[in-house]
Amino acid sequence: MQKIQLAIIGAGPAAWTAAIYASRAQLAPTVFTGFKMGGQLMWTTEVENFPGFPDGIRGPELMGRMQKQAQKFGSQLISAYVTAVDFSQKPFKLWTKLPVGFDSLEDLVQSLPPAEIPTKLTKVKSSEPDFTAEAVIIATGAASIMLHVPGEKEFLGRGVSTCAVCDAAFFKDKNVYVVGGGDTAMEDSLALAKFAKQVTIIHRRDEFKASKLMQGRVLKHPKIKVLWQSEVKEILGKNKIEQIKILVNKQEKMLKAEGLFLAVGHRPMNQIFAGEVKLDQAGYILTQTHSKFSSMTNVEGVFASGDGVDSKYQQAITAAGLGCQAALDAERYLEKL
Ligand code: NDP
Repeated sequence: MQKIQLAIIGAGPAAWTAAIYASRAQLAPTVFTGFKMGGQLMWTTEVENFPGFPDGIRGPELMGRMQKQAQKFGSQLISAYVTAVDFSQKPFKLWTKLPVGFDSLEDLVQSLPPAEIPTKLTKVKSSEPDFTAEAVIIATGAASIMLHVPGEKEFLGRGVSTCAVCDAAFFKDKNVYVVGGGDTAMEDSLALAKFAKQVTIIHRRDEFKASKLMQGRVLKHPKIKVLWQSEVKEILGKNKIEQIKILVNKQEKMLKAEGLFLAVGHRPMNQIFAGEVKLDQAGYILTQTHSKFSSMTNVEGVFASGDGVDSKYQQAITAAGLGCQAALDAERYLEKL
């Protein structure tokens, strides 16, 4: 078991910003990055709205730079998922073992019904903790929401994808669909249109939620069309996706499909903290319970930041800002100790 002063859990803009501030403040933070560093920005192409980059910057490059900056000031990195925590006593206990049969925490969270997740994770806690920490900053972010329709799990990775930016090049000259009406759906459609023959957006309402700028780019693109008031009901095929069943204006329709990209939003990755800190109904961590430390959870010494506490803005810059707050709060808290 290893003793650490400050554990930062996550590897997106919130975690890296917290790590930069905490390491500059000589708190010797240890960042638990999981195996896929960088969070959701790793799946983004051009980030055009992060201040300081007037020509835009690629998401992975931005994350790489933040990581480098955090390491420059002495942040230690551990490429493991924190799979369980015990915040009931100090020092806080952290486990990094994965339950048998799972390669990553993300696999576990995506493949099990929400009710079964705590049982799997509780088993990990029966062993000796891997780390103890005086303070913790949670910055685990959010992950893709699935549709939970028949065929989705079966064809994930075989035509069904949650990451257009990663997979677009595999769909050259193909006929693909994107589900959703937010900025991600717009961005995914534009990324796919560079390769695919035809991109069709399936959206459940008759207007998009996305920003006007992104909508404009999509709606005037010659390769992109939209099916309004439509929902995917089933995904069918043999070895890979071949057809989708959709409901349009309450009528079922079968469409030939060579790819289906899910862009229906994200949910907070806070499953391992349920029962340890207070969450709201949607699973976001509740902060601002303490008058002096706005990023503190209901547990003294445990701070939270990023998309996992913010259901409203969910931008790289807001996540980074929350990471900064959490590090400053952790610094003052540790000083007080
Ligand atoms: P959003 O929550 O903004 O949008 C989700 C979309 O999916 C909505 O249109 C919603 O429909 C639809 N949807 C949700 N659940 C279902 C379902 N079960 N079946 C069918 N459709 C569903 O998520 P995004 O990932 O698009 O964006 C998240 C945040 O990230 C936003 O703040 C966005 O602005 C930001 N972002 C910014 C980018 C940029 O600036 N470059 C790029 C990508 C994201 P409905 O409209 O009916 O609610």
